[in-house]
Amino acid sequence: MTNSQTHLTGFMIVFMIAVYILKEYGFVEMLTVEIIIYSFVAGSIFSVLPDVDHPNSKVRKKTATLMLIGIISLVILFFVSDDRIYLFGVIFLAIILVGLWCVRHRGVLHTVPAGIFLAFPFFIYNPVVGAFALLGFLLHLVMDV
Ligand SMILES: [Zn+2]
Repeated sequence: MTNSQTHLTGFMIVFMIAVYILKEYGFVEMLTVEIIIYSFVAGSIFSVLPDVDHPNSKVRKKTATLMLIGIISLVILFFVSDDRIYLFGVIFLAIILVGLWCVRHRGVLHTVPAGIFLAFPFFIYNPVVGAFALLGFLLHLVMDV
C-alpha cells in the first residue's frame, strides 16, 4: 500500500503542474485564489479518500471519528429540537459507518465510477474544484498500481 504521505505528495506535484498549465493556457479567470484553495483541499482529501476502505489507514480512523462526532451531535440536536430530520441524519451516518466495515480494501472504493460519484457534488459546486477532486482520486488509483 502506497502510504497517505506519498499520495498527498504526488497530488501536490500534479496540482502545481496543472495550475501552471491552466494559467499558461489562459484559464486565469477560472482560477481565483478561493477556487485554487478549495481545489487544493478537495484534491488533497480525494487523493487519500480511496483508502477509507482500509481498516488501519489514517483516513479511515479520521473518517470514523468524524462520523461518530456527527452522530453524537445529531442525537443531541434531536433531543434539543425534537425534529425527526436529525434522526434521519443519524441513520444515514450509521449506514455509511457500518458500510465502511463491510467494504473490501481496494474494492469498490478503488474504482473510477466511485471517484466520479464522490466528486459529483463538487462538480455541481464548481467544475474546477470537482475536476481537481476527481484528479486527486484518479491519481490515487494510478499510484496504487
Ligand atoms: Zn489505495
